[in-house]
Amino acid sequence: MTLAAPILLTPGPLTTSPRTRQAMLVDWGSWDERFNQLTASVCKQLLAIINGTDTHHCVPLQGSGTFAVEAAIGTLVPRDGHVLVLINGAYGKRLAKICDVLGRRFSTFETAEDQPSTAADVERLLKADSSISHVAVIHCETSTGILNPLSEIAAVIAQQGKRLIIDAMSSFGALPIDAQEVPFDALIAASGKCLEGVPGMGFVFARKAALANAAGNSHSLALDLHDQQAYMAKTGQWRFTPPTHVVAALHEALLQYDEEGGLPARHKRYASNCQTLLDGMAGLGLRSFLPDAIQAPIIVTFHAPKDPRYQFKTFYERVKAKGFILYPGKLTQVETFRVGCIGHVNSIDMHAAVNAIGQALREMEVLDI
Ligand SMILES: *Cc1c(COP(=O)(O)O)cnc(C)c1O
Repeated sequence: MTLAAPILLTPGPLTTSPRTRQAMLVDWGSWDERFNQLTASVCKQLLAIINGTDTHHCVPLQGSGTFAVEAAIGTLVPRDGHVLVLINGAYGKRLAKICDVLGRRFSTFETAEDQPSTAADVERLLKADSSISHVAVIHCETSTGILNPLSEIAAVIAQQGKRLIIDAMSSFGALPIDAQEVPFDALIAASGKCLEGVPGMGFVFARKAALANAAGNSHSLALDLHDQQAYMAKTGQWRFTPPTHVVAALHEALLQYDEEGGLPARHKRYASNCQTLLDGMAGLGLRSFLPDAIQAPIIVTFHAPKDPRYQFKTFYERVKAKGFILYPGKLTQVETFRVGCIGHVNSIDMHAAVNAIGQALREMEVLDI
C-alpha cells in the first residue's frame, strides 16, 4: 500500500494506536496463566472506571456489542419480566427487537430522534403500568449522537423500585457514570469504542445480587452471563474460546487510557475533537442535526448538502481518498451523514478531516449547502 491507512471517523471499529495494534502480535493460549491474568486485570480496570468494584461483576463476552446487549437482557430479565424500552434511534429499536426475539414482554416509548427520553416520561409510564419490571435505555444513541439524561432517568427508576439496563456502548469510558450514584442492574459496553481497543468482545457490568438471582433465566447457552461469570470465578478462564488478541489489545489500550489521565482526559480529548469538528463544519456551512445541549461528544450527525450534485457515495469516496472514513446517516426522515469524534484521534486530525470534507465538496462542485 502506498497510502497511509485512513483514519476511521466511525464509532467502532475506530482508529486505534500503533501500540494497541502491536499488542496483537503475540499468540496466547487460553490455558495460559498469563492470559488469565490479562483477563482478570482488564475486568478489574473496567470495574474501576465505573466505581463498581464492590457492587458489580464485570462479565466479558465474546462477540460484538449486540451480543452483550442480548446476553444482558436474556440473563437479567426473568422470563416473566416486562421491559420498558426507551427509543430515540436505531439502537433503541434494536433493544426492543432483542426483547421481541427473546420472547420477553416489552413496551416501547419512542420520542423523535432529536428528543431525549425524560425522567418525567419514565415516571409517568412506570406509574401507569406496575407490571413493568425493567427499563432499558441507550445512554448515547449513536444513530444521531444524542445524549439521554441517564442520572435523572435512573433516579426515577430506583424510586419506583424498578431495574435499569443501560446500553452505554458508545459512551462508556468517555462520559462519567458512577455505579454508586446511578443505580443499575446492567451496563453494557464493548472493547472497540471509547476505550479504543479493537472490536471483538463486549462486557456487562452486572449487579452482583441481580446476577446471583439470574440462574436459568437465559434462553441461550453461549449468551448466559450467569454461567459465564460462574465459570470464570471458578476457573479464571473464559467458558468458551476467548478472543485472545482482542483481550491483549484491550489490556494495552487500558494502560494507555490510564497514562492519558483516565476518563477525564478521554472526555476532554473527545469534547475538543467534537468542538473542532462542529466549528470547522459550520465554517463550511454544514449544519449539525442536534442542538449543542443534547449533542454527546461521540459522533455528530450533519445534514447533507441540498445541492443535487451531492451524493453520499461519491462524497465518501473522495473524503476517503484524502485519508478519512466517514459514516452514512441513519435517519429515516432527513438525509444526513455522520462523523465520529472517538478513537485515537485528536483535534489536529479533526481539523484535517474538515479540510478534506471541504475539498471533496469543492471537487464535486457542491455549492448549495
Ligand atoms: C456500537 C453500538 C452497539 C453495538 O453494536 P455492534 O455492531 O454489535 O458492535 C450497541 N449500542 C450502541 C449504542 C452502539 O453504539
